[in-house]
Amino acid sequence: MNFPSEEIFEYIEQLTPEEPEILKKLDRETNLNVLMPNMLTGHVQGRFLAFMSRILRPKRILEVGTYTGYSAICFAEGLKEGGVIHTIDINDELEEIALRYFKEAGLQDIIKRIQGDALEIIPTLEGKYDLIFLDADKENYPNYLPMLKKRLAPDGLLMIDNTLWSGKVLDPAHSGDKETQGIQKLNKMVAEDPELESFLLPLSDGITLVHWR
Ligand code: SAH
Ligand code: CA
Repeated sequence: MNFPSEEIFEYIEQLTPEEPEILKKLDRETNLNVLMPNMLTGHVQGRFLAFMSRILRPKRILEVGTYTGYSAICFAEGLKEGGVIHTIDINDELEEIALRYFKEAGLQDIIKRIQGDALEIIPTLEGKYDLIFLDADKENYPNYLPMLKKRLAPDGLLMIDNTLWSGKVLDPAHSGDKETQGIQKLNKMVAEDPELESFLLPLSDGITLVHWR
């Protein structure tokens, strides 16, 4: 299932600004050399993330799920001077490519990649974040939500990726795989939490925007 239809997506893509050369290169290299390249954010969604970051001008960004670094580099476009991005990934095989691209983008001192299991790392982080992007293991999305709430600044924005999961969220609850179940549960938790206000955007694979009421 595509959101929106392929024709509308192509139309949006034509109207979307080009991505910087370095992101095109990272997209190509990821597709050639890395497993599961469809996890990479890509052109249209990447421009949306950069746009949101440029509007919000966050000083501190937390990303859960770096992969090869595409989305982190997009978020850096809007980062306030002197700001920092912490991005966590469990897969050490992805470290070399991500760090190489952060360096090539001149962001090696701004984006700090933290190696390890985000479920263990997030509780050890200090301070709050103005912008948080959740894009790691979907089966644990319900476990990440309370942790990330604690890390979200009062005016901060939490963005959760893949909340439509190629339409699999329509499967009856508990009938799907662990990842689908995780996303279904997360979507319900977010919508029903009286402390949170949220909106599920049907862009790409579904992006939910969450902030404090
Ligand atoms: N944000 C990236 C894509 C992330 S793909 C982009 O848009 O380009 C999801 C990533 O989450 C993978 O790289 C995977 O290694 C990582 N991941 C999975 N489980 C994790 C965990 N428990 N802790 C940290 N990272 C995890
Ligand atoms: Ca994603």
